[in-house]
Amino acid sequence: MMNRVSGGSWNEFVPISRIIMTPGPVEADPRVLRAMSYPILGQFDPAFTELMNETMGMLRELFRTDNRWAYPVDGTSRSGIEAVMASLIEPGDKVLVPIFGRFGHLLHEIAERCGGRVITLEKPWGTVFDPAELIEAIGREQPDVVAMVHGETSTGRMQPLAGIGEACRRHGALLIIDAVATIGGTPVDTDAWQLDAVIGGTQKCLSVPSGMAPITYNDRAERKIVARKRIERGLRSNTASLPLQEAPPGPSPIQSNYLDLAQLQDYWSPKRLNHHTEMTSMLYALHEGLRLVLAEGLEARFKRHRMHESALMAGLTSMGLSMYGDPLSKLPMVTCVQIPECVDGEMVRSMLLHQFGIEIASSFGPLAGRIWRIGTMGYSCRQTNILHLLGSLEAVLLRAGVKLPAGEAVQAALDAYEEARVG
Ligand SMILES: *Cc1c(COP(=O)(O)O)cnc(C)c1O
Repeated sequence: MMNRVSGGSWNEFVPISRIIMTPGPVEADPRVLRAMSYPILGQFDPAFTELMNETMGMLRELFRTDNRWAYPVDGTSRSGIEAVMASLIEPGDKVLVPIFGRFGHLLHEIAERCGGRVITLEKPWGTVFDPAELIEAIGREQPDVVAMVHGETSTGRMQPLAGIGEACRRHGALLIIDAVATIGGTPVDTDAWQLDAVIGGTQKCLSVPSGMAPITYNDRAERKIVARKRIERGLRSNTASLPLQEAPPGPSPIQSNYLDLAQLQDYWSPKRLNHHTEMTSMLYALHEGLRLVLAEGLEARFKRHRMHESALMAGLTSMGLSMYGDPLSKLPMVTCVQIPECVDGEMVRSMLLHQFGIEIASSFGPLAGRIWRIGTMGYSCRQTNILHLLGSLEAVLLRAGVKLPAGEAVQAALDAYEEARVG
């Protein structure tokens, strides 16, 4: 018989280091990784609750908001999206979901699971909506909630949001924005754009590992959340005596316990009502990641993302490669490249990874096998990475038999860097 007890023969896991040029997860800043190795604090230790408060203060700056509520949900970005949607969509609510890529479909699915009556609008992949179309649709449909993506990583497009929040307010709708890919890399102006609830991501432009979802929401959103909480309490104490059909009419309780923003905000408030155990080491990481973002300065950071994007595009174009999608709505931190006809895209990705230690991404659904997606996010977004990628991609394509002007890509990127630094 086989001995099932293997004792101490398991291998220690030490990952090799990679250059990660995908739309997430990206390389974490070494200072963030160091923060994760600090000793554990109890969740009600004053040193820890002070860290929670500081993190909230930094998140307000990141989201450019005066909202009272800005804190992380524990889980990947999807948990933040689900917490916001489950707390703001009541069964029977009319929800408008404009879709221009894969993550729009995710919002659609979650809105349906929350019991929303969902109406979708779709744009062909590679394009975005004209804000006027959305403003018109909001007036026509009179939804209770509008949920949409800001930076669509699947297609590398960015939806302009100005004017949409104002239309939502005029028609009494709440506006939920998935800014997972854009937060910390390009402006997300929560208050100026009148966004009612915004979800950010850690493993993208913040360069913190995956595992937390920073969110913020305003008073309009909070009112709906708190109303659903009051009824929930009432129901709970009355269930024994009230027959089901006599349940009081009014807001329905939030379905999830873990993702109930009414409970989470009580935990993040000075009341510190116990909910879950806050993710100690992840909060150290997020705090350090936010500190580094704000020390660099938001505007400087946005400019840096644009500069490296330009150098990358200059290199790719001079190799003779074509970009995918409408150039006017390009997402600064994701560059989608058309895979040349004669080339096996997966072979190129595999060779980049195994011979050069560089990871780039493929895409989903209709774009699978047609484009590569190159991420330039956060700590991964730096000159050495861009130059290594361009040199390596050129070598791989030459090896695959593609005819291209050898040596020009890196020179074009170096030129772009020189121009950026002079101008
Ligand atoms: C990455 C991403 C998500 C999902 O994030 P997870 O952390 O994987 O849950 C959601 N929306 C957008 C736009 C993204 O780019």
